[in-house]
Amino acid sequence: MKIIMLGAPGAGKGTQADKICAKYDIPHISTGDIFRANIKNNTELGQKAKSYMDKGLLVPDELVVDLVVDRVKADDCAKGYVLDGFPRTIPQAEALDKALEASGEKVDFAINVEVPDENIINRMSGRRACVTCGATYHIVHIPTKVEGICDKCGSELILRDDDKPETVKKRLDVYHEQTQPLIDYYTEKGVLHEVDGTKDMEEVFGAIVNILGA
Ligand code: ADP
Ligand code: AMP
Repeated sequence: MKIIMLGAPGAGKGTQADKICAKYDIPHISTGDIFRANIKNNTELGQKAKSYMDKGLLVPDELVVDLVVDRVKADDCAKGYVLDGFPRTIPQAEALDKALEASGEKVDFAINVEVPDENIINRMSGRRACVTCGATYHIVHIPTKVEGICDKCGSELILRDDDKPETVKKRLDVYHEQTQPLIDYYTEKGVLHEVDGTKDMEEVFGAIVNILGA
């Protein structure tokens, strides 16, 4: 089961990807988490990615495509995976399709989590993220048991640098310009499914499970 999560930044892709991966026992591959881990470890990739991420821009395709194409070939991906935050441009989607076609595979589901721009700024300013395990919370909608501490691994939570309102506005512009065209791309491939991301987290998940099947 090869699944792609589509949607604006803050639509809830990561939140739902976590739940899908737990239910179907497949890996959650978040390119944003991969970049943030590289930034934390001060790698060369992290330094390059940070300069784009801080401005709300996409990291160039050549820094992300090979990384994902290699990752999905790993043994733990044999049963499938959820790609969260990739692809974000048409060339990325084409590169993924080409790599999959080479081994007779394809994307099975592209799930678009729909949330209007008006709701996004609020979602992002309340988002708290764990840089150690990638878990995501919201101070009002999805709070942790202990304020500021990750329920899953006990690490401290952060407000992401790129979740500041000015950067979020830029990220939304970039989303509409470069990522939204993927909705048509996957519609044409016959694998696109839409869910209403404004609903409560469990309701959104229920809609996704209906799409994926038990
Ligand atoms: P994305 O991965 O699309 O950027 P996240 O999954 O990180 O988005 O969600 C963005 C913020 O919104 C987080 O703080 C998350 O806890 C919160 N969130 C996710 N889904 C919902 C929901 N259905 N209702 C309310 N808040 C949500
Ligand atoms: P995310 O955690 O998915 O919101 O990603 C955070 C940031 O990482 C984005 O705003 C981009 O700067 C960068 N990024 C993540 N995934 C990609 C990708 N597939 N292509 C380009 N940039 C990406």
